[in-house]
Amino acid sequence: MLTLATTTPGEPEIFASVQGEGQSAGRPCTFMRLSRCNLACTWCDTAYTWRFEGDNRPHRDDTRFDRTANQITLSEEDAAARILALGQNRLVITGGEPLLQSPALARMLALLPGIHIEIETNGTVAPTSALDALVDQYNVSPKLAHSGNAAELALIPERLAAFAADARAYFKFVVACEADVEAVQVLCSAFAIAPERTFLMPEGTDSATITARLKWLTPLVIKNDMRLTDRLHIHLFGDTRGT
Ligand code: SF4
Repeated sequence: MLTLATTTPGEPEIFASVQGEGQSAGRPCTFMRLSRCNLACTWCDTAYTWRFEGDNRPHRDDTRFDRTANQITLSEEDAAARILALGQNRLVITGGEPLLQSPALARMLALLPGIHIEIETNGTVAPTSALDALVDQYNVSPKLAHSGNAAELALIPERLAAFAADARAYFKFVVACEADVEAVQVLCSAFAIAPERTFLMPEGTDSATITARLKWLTPLVIKNDMRLTDRLHIHLFGDTRGT
């Protein structure tokens, strides 16, 4: 069984859209958003996947979500059928932290042969070998100090090294200020993360903030020979579920 986020109570967050970030930006795909996360980023824009009633970890909106309304459990067969019904040949599995549900994900992906599989992860959890064999691309987003997570939880050296050595893994760092870029440089150097697989992405949940940060990030990307990524879905749809 898989635990998904909901768009509205009772409706799993499975939808067709375009990838808004990173290596596959602009490509049409189906998204599936899983519930639960092992981290707690203060600026998380999907806190409804983890900040349930009783969770006192800090978050800038200080909103707590009703677990019953914001989670739904689906069988692997039901989830796969809903994905196939949307007719896309690319699936982006996001969260929350999807790799917390590796065994069930592997069972579901075995029902989806021929579909290109991307998994978005915070880079702290190892996939099972059964799941790893079915994944075409990892979008790894390690969380820096400004996320509010303790480094020993958010930056797991053996995991970062493993993803850095995996040509399927693209790194995407959420950046809010120039000090964050320096932190990215330190991590890239320490774990031999390839610059051509390293994206800098502005933190922000509104178009004006993202555009302003893209502008000051551009010279830093040029200087460091990394890659810049927008958040297309925010410009197109705002900070909304199911987009
Ligand atoms: S790792 Fe991702 S889903 Fe988890 S709290 Fe941070 S931003 Fe949110």
